[in-house]
Amino acid sequence: MPPPSLPPCFPFSSDEARGCAYTANHDRVLAREAGESRERLEFLVTAVQAITDSVDLGGALHGLCSAAVPRLGQWCSITLRSVGGLAAPQVWHDSPDRVHLLQELAGVRMPPGDRRNPVHRVLASGRSEFVSRTAPDFNARLAVSPEHMRLLEELDVASYMCVPLRSHGKTLGVMTLGADSGWRPLCRTDLVIAEQLATRVGAAIEKAQLHQAVEAELSERRRAEAALRRQEAEQAVILDTVRAMIWYKDADNRILRCNRAAARWLGKSVKEVQGRRVDELFPPALARQYHANDLAVISSGKAAVGVLEELTLRGGAKRWVQRDILPYRGERGETVGVVIIAVDVTKRKRAEDLAVAKERAEREFVANVSHEFRTPVAAIKGFAQTLREGAWRSPKDRAKFLNIIEANADRLDAMVGDLLTLSALEGSTPVRPVAVEVGRVARDRARRAMSRARRKGLSVDVSVPRGLKVRMEPSHLGQALEHLLDNAIKFTPPGGWVRVKARGAGKEARIVVEDSGIGIPSVELPRVFDRFYRVAKGAKSGSPGLGLHLVKKLVGAYGGRVSARSRLARGSAFSISLPAVADR
Ligand code: ADP
Repeated sequence: MPPPSLPPCFPFSSDEARGCAYTANHDRVLAREAGESRERLEFLVTAVQAITDSVDLGGALHGLCSAAVPRLGQWCSITLRSVGGLAAPQVWHDSPDRVHLLQELAGVRMPPGDRRNPVHRVLASGRSEFVSRTAPDFNARLAVSPEHMRLLEELDVASYMCVPLRSHGKTLGVMTLGADSGWRPLCRTDLVIAEQLATRVGAAIEKAQLHQAVEAELSERRRAEAALRRQEAEQAVILDTVRAMIWYKDADNRILRCNRAAARWLGKSVKEVQGRRVDELFPPALARQYHANDLAVISSGKAAVGVLEELTLRGGAKRWVQRDILPYRGERGETVGVVIIAVDVTKRKRAEDLAVAKERAEREFVANVSHEFRTPVAAIKGFAQTLREGAWRSPKDRAKFLNIIEANADRLDAMVGDLLTLSALEGSTPVRPVAVEVGRVARDRARRAMSRARRKGLSVDVSVPRGLKVRMEPSHLGQALEHLLDNAIKFTPPGGWVRVKARGAGKEARIVVEDSGIGIPSVELPRVFDRFYRVAKGAKSGSPGLGLHLVKKLVGAYGGRVSARSRLARGSAFSISLPAVADR
């Protein structure tokens, strides 16, 4: 609300009224004085209202200046104390084109507390200063520089007053009102009103200053919060771009924060993981194991680096995880939780385990092969020595020992052949499948085995449909059938039988070598195709346990499968399934 309009100066001050002799006009003077008082009061009420309505300091000072000019002075300047000195004054002039003079004067630097400056004097004393007519040397005594002098002369301070702005006994600032020689001189009535105004606005200024301080504090806090949010967002970006899983956990086993990699590893979103306890996300035993390791770091305050753990997740999946557990410190440096940087090393661990297993298998292979070679080599060496020492003289012994040497040399040759075939199949040598007639190969291998079978009194039958063909190299099919026939003859007691059967079923042909032999215990059966595996009971020395493994590898190289059925003391049946060649 704008302040009420008043004449430039109240025409009759109380001082003047008191100086008048009692005349017939005395009543009129009293009546006018009463009117003045009422108007003054109204002005004050409205002006103070306008100022105190404003909660911001700039608004309050603006309200004060605009209320004071031109009612109490031609111009007004308000200087407030601020942290470490004085704030830039707020200025107001009745003639807008002279505002710049007040602004330039405000910019003149005077030593702090300089007693020549009436504003400094009033700030120090807390009492008003009023000069209705300035002395001729006013400018000269105040000016600190020629420029200051020029500004003062141009402003032409003919009368002025400095009124302290006070609240709760403190001088918050000074309101200076002035007029030039062309204006009416300021009077004591102006001073009384200005002082009343100043007393009332002091509280408003204090309130506004307080508000300003609170605002500054709030905006500082908002800035700090925004900076924190920005920092958190930046951190989140960094956390989310690293491939390692990162968790922040408190001492209560609760996840305070995690990155996207960590949440993804659990098949969840970051929101679903943050704030939850570890035992809600991991199986109880695992959560306990984690917690124990983490608590050790919390209580010692020392990091645990490279902790390798095998975990079974909810759902049963097994993973290997390597964790660095670092203490997470509070504001006073105390350990309040842990930061975990974890990497899923399952792939690496499996590759390492595989490499170790492979190395062990290779060592075992060499040891096994050497061992298997030693027996026939020892036999050859022993019988050759016996011959040299004189046994050659006996034709019977000579023939017998030479047969033994030959048989062992054949065994060695067969073993070397098997090893070479295995090595070729396991290496990069490609196989060349051709259409091969099963019956022809089966009959050929059965014929070769016949003499051994006869020696044991075994019958050998081949029952394969004419024209049944599979896709395989003939020598490889022959090698596989030879091993199966050898075993059948080897593990069938005299008087028994051995049979080779085959039939085509769609795209597949099935060849079965069966016997009426000793059979294989059911617990051993699943392992008979493993390399160097021998069934303890049925194995004879000199049997390296390579034959069935080679059969499996040979058949597998052509996309086929092997299987075995057996009953103890009743016999066994070994099957080979291979891609068949369609009839033309
Ligand atoms: P090897 O090359 O020493 O003959 P194999 O890999 O061919 O070894 O056979 C592995 C083991 O399976 C043999 O030691 C034997 O105990 C058992 N086995 C294989 N064929 C038969 C069969 N027809 N009857 C009984 N046992 C067999």
